[in-house]
Amino acid sequence: MASYEDQQIVEVAAKLKARLERAEDKRSVLRAPELSALYDHLKTLPAGSDRAAFGKEVNALREELERLVRETVQPKKDLKPIDVTAPFDVNAKLPQLLSVESGSRHPITKEIENIVEIFSRMGFEAVESRELDDDYHMFSSLNFPEDHPARDDYDTFMTEESLVAPAHTSTMQNRVLKARKKDLEAGKGIRVVIPDRVFRNDDLDARHEHTFYQLEGVYVDKGVSVANLIATLQTFLETYYSRQLKVKTQPFYFPFTEPSFEFAISCPFCDEKGCHICSQAGWIELLGCGMIHPNVLREAGIDPNTYTGFAWGCGIDRLVMMKYSVEDVRYFHSGNLKFLRQFK
Ligand SMILES: [Zn+2]
Repeated sequence: MASYEDQQIVEVAAKLKARLERAEDKRSVLRAPELSALYDHLKTLPAGSDRAAFGKEVNALREELERLVRETVQPKKDLKPIDVTAPFDVNAKLPQLLSVESGSRHPITKEIENIVEIFSRMGFEAVESRELDDDYHMFSSLNFPEDHPARDDYDTFMTEESLVAPAHTSTMQNRVLKARKKDLEAGKGIRVVIPDRVFRNDDLDARHEHTFYQLEGVYVDKGVSVANLIATLQTFLETYYSRQLKVKTQPFYFPFTEPSFEFAISCPFCDEKGCHICSQAGWIELLGCGMIHPNVLREAGIDPNTYTGFAWGCGIDRLVMMKYSVEDVRYFHSGNLKFLRQFK
């Protein structure tokens, strides 16, 4: 048995050992206020040999008590052993569990792979986005003036530190252009697609979710034109829907492209006759696109007098909804097995 020099510690040791014999919950002695009071007292002592000696004795007392508790507390002997290697039904009385079945990949994941594969055949490389970003990448680097009303269309979620949950995958554009500027100088174009999750502070309905997926595309090189933009998107969409499509563009406004367009395709379900999917219009507005604004290129250190480029942003959920006639975007994040099993 340990012996202690300090009178205060001698007293506490005697008291706690006596309590240990009586206590039902032996471990409660290790939490005794008298023991923590010794540690509190230690903190008030001036640094020096007295403090070091006192600290050593307090620790020794704690270790002795821990050892005594270990020796006193006997393991319960009436528990039946469990054979962890046994098959499921041997250890009886199992809780009700869901039956084991293999899962499957989410339809959005599968379609992203499909989309990326089509673009990789066209020479585009896929880059991941991020789910938290700053104001500069979300707005300023994309030619959104400070306090410009166009920012309102991208209302999203914010942290207390003013980081934003990206409302579009264009948040990666400045990074991609900066990182690949050397490719341009080496005579290679920049061809990148960025599929990822984005967030909007939207009222939810069959066509709007607060979380959805977007596909950003960026192509910069010498002599890139609107004709290249239209041909690239038309080729992608015709491959994705496995049919020929008519396309048309209408002027639009985005701060980060000039000129900007809304891009529409002839409805792949009714061949322009009008159906419930195209709201009887025969055409479906599918995405926003345009020629990258010179200010955006300049911000990334690329000379807009030498290089031009196009960019687009397209809702992936929307593409998939049209492909499989899914009538409500909210199914994708519902975790509804009846819905998900249809895509196995
Ligand atoms: Zn239609």
